[in-house]
Amino acid sequence: LHLDDERVTLTLAFGDVADVLPKLRLAADAIYLDGFAPDRNPEMWTPGVMKTLARLARPGATLATYTAARTVRDALAAAAFAPALRAGFGRKRQMLAARFTPRAPLRHGAPAAPHWSERRAIVIGAGLAGAGVAERLVARGWKVELIERHAAPAAEASGMAAGIIHPQVSRDDSVLSRLTRAGFLYALLRWRALERDGHRFAWTRCGLLQFGRDVREERRMADSVRALGNPADYVQYVAREEAGRHAGLSTENGGLWFPAGGWVRPVNLVTALVEAARPGLTFFPGRTVNALVRDKDLWLAIAPDGTPIAAAPVVVLANSHDAARLVPVATALKRVRGQLTCLPPGSIAPPDTVVAGAGHLIPVGDGAAVVGSTYDFEDDDPEPSAAGHAGNLERLERLLPGIAARLSPGRLAGTVGFRCVTQDRLPLIGRLPDAGAASANTARYKSPAWDVPRLEGLYGAFGYASRGLTWASLGGELVASAVEGEPLPLEGDLADAIDPARFVLRRARRGRL
Ligand SMILES: Cc1cc2nc3c(=O)[nH]c(=O)nc-3n(C[C@H](O)[C@H](O)[C@H](O)COP(=O)(O)OP(=O)(O)OC[C@H]3O[C@@H](n4cnc5c(N)ncnc54)[C@H](O)[C@@H]3O)c2cc1C
Repeated sequence: LHLDDERVTLTLAFGDVADVLPKLRLAADAIYLDGFAPDRNPEMWTPGVMKTLARLARPGATLATYTAARTVRDALAAAAFAPALRAGFGRKRQMLAARFTPRAPLRHGAPAAPHWSERRAIVIGAGLAGAGVAERLVARGWKVELIERHAAPAAEASGMAAGIIHPQVSRDDSVLSRLTRAGFLYALLRWRALERDGHRFAWTRCGLLQFGRDVREERRMADSVRALGNPADYVQYVAREEAGRHAGLSTENGGLWFPAGGWVRPVNLVTALVEAARPGLTFFPGRTVNALVRDKDLWLAIAPDGTPIAAAPVVVLANSHDAARLVPVATALKRVRGQLTCLPPGSIAPPDTVVAGAGHLIPVGDGAAVVGSTYDFEDDDPEPSAAGHAGNLERLERLLPGIAARLSPGRLAGTVGFRCVTQDRLPLIGRLPDAGAASANTARYKSPAWDVPRLEGLYGAFGYASRGLTWASLGGELVASAVEGEPLPLEGDLADAIDPARFVLRRARRGRL
């Protein structure tokens, strides 16, 4: 929750303290314990809970609580919080105040607060990823230099005609489901804020229907929704008749209905983010970063002719495939071609909602529609092809049989882009690993968050694959939180799943760094 003109961010974690504390990724300067009284709620005040708190506290952090109970004092002291009795408030005679004073740094303790010589960052790449990061940094008072090799933002993958957004839903509420839920809900929050501030980017909240590929998948969808108990404004299972009512045409199947799903024109969203970030953002169009060079506590972004374009203590690589050329991340970034097909007004009767499944159909207004999309490996053709259109029409036929009967692939227009896809199809968002230093000492790596050495001041936001709209806002917030040393806006296992150091860790475990 962003409050007070975004000057305060409140991260609320719901759950039992024993479950939730280990999942937090934060470094606290001050802690207040406000659980029910120790004799009524002893689980909240155990030595184990205090030990976990110690891992979240920066050295010197303060802790306070209304209780003065002996058991709490002892548990705090055992966890290296030096407690002292103080005069209490209101009806309380005494309370406790403590300072975290570990004798030696904890192995997996909270990192020190980042200290930057100036609050200025270079962001490389002005697509969804870069614009998302730039806007979040500027919202925190940073100056951002956004460098883009094309003359305008969103000139590569983010230049697609229209893009859809909806979360993944699975019965086991997998890491992907939880991550896309976080990304989807945070995107909606940010987009509403952008609109409130007067930025328009053709966000159409028409809802999104997702059909199963067959009867079995449809049944699985229904089971998942029943088992998960998500709110109805997030996702519902709808049978065929209701699906047809939403879409405004008859459908063959039922499926998932996302009332808040929809589509946007990514180019407009990127432009809105860049505009929202001014005047804190300076845009450098038509400049290619060829290398990054460290100069004392600054990074220099170097042009192909060897001259510096900009210098800053923090650099965020949001330049898709090209990121791995600038900083090794121990994994290949695949380039997967995608083609969209644009259907002019009058060629089909478009549905009232986005329809997705094997492909997707977006009603983009005035009777026009966009169909997507191909997923072509080892194909570098930047031009739309008739074969690509034919593939999209087949997808459309499977989604809504009969709708594309009169269309001929040879006469259609479309756009082509290249997705940046990692081995596990999840993005790389966060502080970048120092693969060189990591290879020198691989024996003790257990978790990417704690063990893998990092490059000072270098962050990544790339590998957004087919979900740029889902990752862009959350990715921006995650990077900005990490740069500022704020609590991460994700649970630890989710942050680990997209940690740019995860491939270094995997290779190190296999002894292949
Ligand atoms: C056909 C197709 C359909 C898609 N549909 C959807 C959809 O419906 N929903 C969805 O969420 N996602 C969709 N995607 C995925 C989405 O387009 C991407 O995930 C997203 O655009 C990636 O954004 P990005 O900023 O990481 O990359 P890009 O948009 O490619 O931006 C990277 C930028 O970095 C710049 N750059 C690179 N190297 C340098 C350098 N050295 N110096 C300076 N600048 C540099 C590039 O010029 C580029 O502008 C689709 C993709 C395709 C191809």
